[in-house]
Amino acid sequence: MTPTLACEGLSKRYGDVAAVDDVGFAIAPGQAYGLLGPNGAGKTTTISMLVGLLRPDAGTVLVGGTDLAADPRRAKARIGYVPQEIALYPELTGRENLRFFGRLFGLPRRRLAGRIEEVLDLIGLTDRADGRLDTYSGGMRRRINIGAALLHRPDVLILDEPTVGVDPQSRKAILDGLELLVQDGMSLLYTSHYMEEVERVCERVAIIDHGRIVADGTRRELVAMVGSADTIELVLDGDVAAAFAKLRTVEGVIEAAMTGAGSVRLIAEGGRYLLPALITAVEGSATVTATQVIEPDLEATFLHLTGTTLRD
Ligand code: ATP
Repeated sequence: MTPTLACEGLSKRYGDVAAVDDVGFAIAPGQAYGLLGPNGAGKTTTISMLVGLLRPDAGTVLVGGTDLAADPRRAKARIGYVPQEIALYPELTGRENLRFFGRLFGLPRRRLAGRIEEVLDLIGLTDRADGRLDTYSGGMRRRINIGAALLHRPDVLILDEPTVGVDPQSRKAILDGLELLVQDGMSLLYTSHYMEEVERVCERVAIIDHGRIVADGTRRELVAMVGSADTIELVLDGDVAAAFAKLRTVEGVIEAAMTGAGSVRLIAEGGRYLLPALITAVEGSATVTATQVIEPDLEATFLHLTGTTLRD
């Protein structure tokens, strides 16, 4: 089956920084694909090349088999793009904003009217469609933004961190709406640094760090990469740096990261049985005031692959 969106060898440098370095993946029809990485990992730069806003130094993008560089018009017509920055007209209503963007995409007026109502229903804003944008919450604006990207019935929706700065109610509405779209056969490229969202929405996930995809697969495949190791979170009181140095050397500890003032995250084989050894190890430097053992998840995989946590 032809992927809805595929890229190969995508690269972009800014001076000494390889913002995107040999990135490639393929998204099947109806598949939700997540690009998970911390700020600065290269997600926005990747997306900008996929939607034709930025010319890659190298690599190809195929949209439903059409080469973006060779036939940008045709390729772009199949893409719905939801940028990180919201650009809507504050003095227009939600419905008027959608109409404006629909006209911009060249949708015929008659077809557009019906499509706007469908899209409003999909994003759950039918009731508020006649309110001015400047009376909307950040989350409602984001939903109009998503709606605008859906008007022309794209095959793939590309979203750049769509829940950043969004209230919990809108966040839920956005994630529920995306799940419905995928059930209906839409492909998604979803970027986020929120593990929970990617785990919920996406069937496959690529972990991106310093411009490179360091792993990709289903959630289960990625989690299996850390084996049966557990994540252990410790809260310490005392000389945390000295305690951290000791914790790293405890037998069974695979990875260690400082995650905040006084908190440390470890990945360890059979972690739950290691707690007494960890508590003993820090003696003389610090006291363990709280512990939590978490079974393998994507966060653990991320730490394992990159040596950093997503919220660094
Ligand atoms: P964020 O979530 O913060 O947007 P990101 O994963 O989307 O992060 P990018 O914005 O793609 O990351 O940035 C990747 C790297 O490229 C970063 O080191 C960034 O500083 C650099 N970069 C991005 N755009 C430019 C630019 N126009 N000029 C110079 N450097 C840039």
